[in-house]
Amino acid sequence: MNITAFEEIKYELNQHKARLVAVSKTQSIEKIAALYHAGQRIFGENKVQEMCDKQSVLPNNIEWHLIGHLQRNKVKYIAPFVSMIHSVDSMKLLQEINKQALNNNRIIACLLQFHIAQEETKFGLNEAEASQLLQSPTFLEMKNIAICGVMGMATNTNNKALIKQEFMQLQSIFDSLKIQHFKNDSRFKEISMGMSSDYKIALQCGSTLVRIGSKLFGERNYE
Ligand SMILES: *Cc1c(COP(=O)(O)O)cnc(C)c1O
Repeated sequence: MNITAFEEIKYELNQHKARLVAVSKTQSIEKIAALYHAGQRIFGENKVQEMCDKQSVLPNNIEWHLIGHLQRNKVKYIAPFVSMIHSVDSMKLLQEINKQALNNNRIIACLLQFHIAQEETKFGLNEAEASQLLQSPTFLEMKNIAICGVMGMATNTNNKALIKQEFMQLQSIFDSLKIQHFKNDSRFKEISMGMSSDYKIALQCGSTLVRIGSKLFGERNYE
């Protein structure tokens, strides 16, 4: 774990009033515990099983954020404890989260994931799909989810201008959804964007939650 990088990142985020999601996927319990003891409380995972295994042995005051694609049949495993789900990309998934949150007597914070990158493989909604979802009676009846903002991933490229353009697009989607659907809802305030390679650009574009893994923990080992 890289404490110098952690301190540097915290300082930069502070200046922008943004928060850090430490992306701990594939990292050991020992490394996560070390960052926890250095003061970090929000950790992000992209796989349900791995998140549950880690949650069960690490301190209870960690906020676990699910940042990867989520299958509906796995929502029940994280519903008892997850703090935020960044990757909501369909009404059916939202319905299942609402159902499992109700079963656990909780309100689960969710972000709508948008497809802003040029790559075809990345999940996410477009603005029209999101507007349709947010206006539907099915959505308006859901009592156990809170839509807290938007999330997106930029194209994996060295082209900073392209990355900036994609982050500005997400910022503008946030603004228009805020005006159209969440004017009086103070919970809708998060823009989750930026990773190790592009978080400085994301901060310039208004990110409130950056998701950083390898810059904190070192390269991932997928064995
Ligand atoms: C892995 C991952 C990150 C962190 O990536 P790094 O390049 O290691 O900082 C951020 N967001 C999502 C959705 C991820 O899957």
